[in-house]
Amino acid sequence: MLTASMDSVRIFNKPTSADGNIARLPQYYGQNVFDITAMSKRLGQKDVETVRDIMQNGGKIDSTLASRIATAVRDWAIERGATHFCHWFQPQTGTTAEKHEGFMSFDQDGKPIERFRGSELLQGEPDASSFPSGGLRSTFEARGYTAWDPSSPMFLMESENNITTLYIPTIFVSHNGQSLDFKAPLLKSLERISDEAVKTLQLLGEKNITKAHVHIGAEQEYFLIERNSAAKRMDLVLTGRTVFGKKPAKGQELEDHYFGNIPPRVQAFMQEVEIDLYKLGVPMKTRHNEVAPRQFEFAPIFETANIASDHNQLLMKILRSVAARHGFMVLLHEKPFAGVNGSGKHLNWSISDSNGRNLLDPGTTPHQNIVFLTFLAACMLGIHEHAEVIRASVASAGNDHRLGANEAPPAIMSVFLGEALTRILDELLAGSSTKTSAEKTLMNLGLSQVQNLFRETTDRNRTSPFAFTGNKFEFRAVGSSAPIGYPATILNAAVTSALMKINEMLKAHAKNGEVSPEAVLSVVTEVVRKTQAVRFEGNGYSQEWRDEAARRGLSNTATTPEAISVFRNCEKTQFLQNTGVFSTADVESRGVIQMERYVKQRLIEVNIAIEMAQTGILPASIRYLGEVVALARDAASLSVPSPATKLAQDLGNLCNRVEAALTSLKNATERTTSGDALEHDSLWNTGLEISRNLMPRLEELRTAVDALEAQFPSQSWPFPQYSDILFTLE
Ligand code: ADP
Ligand code: MG
Repeated sequence: MLTASMDSVRIFNKPTSADGNIARLPQYYGQNVFDITAMSKRLGQKDVETVRDIMQNGGKIDSTLASRIATAVRDWAIERGATHFCHWFQPQTGTTAEKHEGFMSFDQDGKPIERFRGSELLQGEPDASSFPSGGLRSTFEARGYTAWDPSSPMFLMESENNITTLYIPTIFVSHNGQSLDFKAPLLKSLERISDEAVKTLQLLGEKNITKAHVHIGAEQEYFLIERNSAAKRMDLVLTGRTVFGKKPAKGQELEDHYFGNIPPRVQAFMQEVEIDLYKLGVPMKTRHNEVAPRQFEFAPIFETANIASDHNQLLMKILRSVAARHGFMVLLHEKPFAGVNGSGKHLNWSISDSNGRNLLDPGTTPHQNIVFLTFLAACMLGIHEHAEVIRASVASAGNDHRLGANEAPPAIMSVFLGEALTRILDELLAGSSTKTSAEKTLMNLGLSQVQNLFRETTDRNRTSPFAFTGNKFEFRAVGSSAPIGYPATILNAAVTSALMKINEMLKAHAKNGEVSPEAVLSVVTEVVRKTQAVRFEGNGYSQEWRDEAARRGLSNTATTPEAISVFRNCEKTQFLQNTGVFSTADVESRGVIQMERYVKQRLIEVNIAIEMAQTGILPASIRYLGEVVALARDAASLSVPSPATKLAQDLGNLCNRVEAALTSLKNATERTTSGDALEHDSLWNTGLEISRNLMPRLEELRTAVDALEAQFPSQSWPFPQYSDILFTLE
């Protein structure tokens, strides 16, 4: 069942070279990207250098240069078959948005021409009123603007029917300049963390560093199921998760799927995803089976944060479209199947300087290690102080099923450092770093010798939301469907805020703008002392940790409405404004939008469950019950003992249980959504009401339905079952 011959599997987009042979990767990698190489062929060297500098270091492109770039990119795109361009942006809906416009225009004589103006490259004007604004819209105008982000290259998207479109990565802002998307704040956070990191490095005596860059590698988990069976389940099609479904006899107990053979049809799918992404310059590296049946993972090589974020959006987009071509459906939902492992997105995060040195990489010299310890301390301080907002940044209806469900890190934000580093920090705390020289202290700590040791051993604890893995942090609480730009923005802001504090502390020790290594170590030690509560090396799934975390005063919010209520706490969100990443209005609106999405998604789930129970499950059950009752009656009339009698009783009870749970859910839903419950001002209460009141009732209905399903002949169950979906490869 799990094998299909490779013959039946077609790779649709296998690239060929001019001589008709199979093309090698370097021949097509990035071929659909208007990168520096493509630009060099069509723009003067000075222009290319200006663009390169802006891509790396930020800055604005003036209108005359924009015109030259527009002409160059138009010709490049048209030669490759493009007829349209679009501003591609990331409204807070979780997916990307695009508005296509033709190159079509008329010249003075009324003849049709292909035109693309600099102004069209720089700015677009989609109607903002169809996108979430969290109340910003009522205050400001409905108009929104998209503006080109030159730090992420333009690219061509090829779709099925040979349609090619030029995509322009853009930010999306309101008329008054408030950000309406995930990209604008990310760019701001990257600027700000760079500013503060450079200041820190200067205080540590490094005057030649001009910039710092955040790097991200996002591992993407997903389910790949058959489109035909998925299409028969309204819950999967409309919400990405099953609201009913009894666990199959075989789950993931055998652990035979993880890193197992990849079925050929799935491999063909993966290969095609990779080829499409290679053409788009996305450095896909790893593909493998995940823990659950039909669950897989893709990971690219890490890139600068803004590009990594755009590329993860592209990955999700390409996954969906290639899946359709192969008769599959891809599920990016965090928990598509109850009782089966869910999907996350591990966000690997590090920060480097303009010389390409990873600041989280412990080195071999005392100075390198002082830099390392300072930035490590900044990360710990950022996570410690801003844990609640970081937690809120990964909150979603889907992720509520995952965080704290013993398969993903708990909702308590803690940091795992590994044995070697823990020992070093503990010794730093216990020691007298201010008395001995920094060099001696570091030597005694044995930091440089253990550099390789903790690279090999730190990745073992899978239960921690923030694991230090040798030279980067792995943030594991991000949901599989989430755009990474948002949690990355919050994390950047948290570390920026920590660097601002550390810079103040360092400045207090500075002489002529520089701080002695001894003084730096004392500051690091102080931060390590302050942040002890956030360090945890044990099992994050255990009840003991939950109890211990409560004693330490760490927050633990299980649901989205509770988690995002932090956006209404000015004190807790102040750092987002202090760092300049968000304005006050931005903060409030983000919370509202997250709550709107939660409420909408949950209500869709509830309504679909009601509909499936009402129009599919109950009618089928009543029919089947009727058959069993008739059999029981026949047997009784002949005085033949039959299990039908007992089965009829059991079925009748289960049907009643389903009916009762259904009625209770329906009534509760009506109450929860009545009046102005979905209006702006009531939204926060409605969200809480849904998580506290509706979700337990939905769960009750599910339990009843799943119990009924267990009694049912498989072929009569009105929807494809878990066993059909998870264990059948067509
Ligand atoms: P795992 O054991 O978690 O699979 P990998 O070494 O495969 O870890 O890395 C996972 C992801 O982390 C990849 O996308 C990889 O490119 C990325 N990564 C590696 N080094 C860094 C770094 N310095 N900064 C950011 N991401 C990184
Ligand atoms: Mg990982």
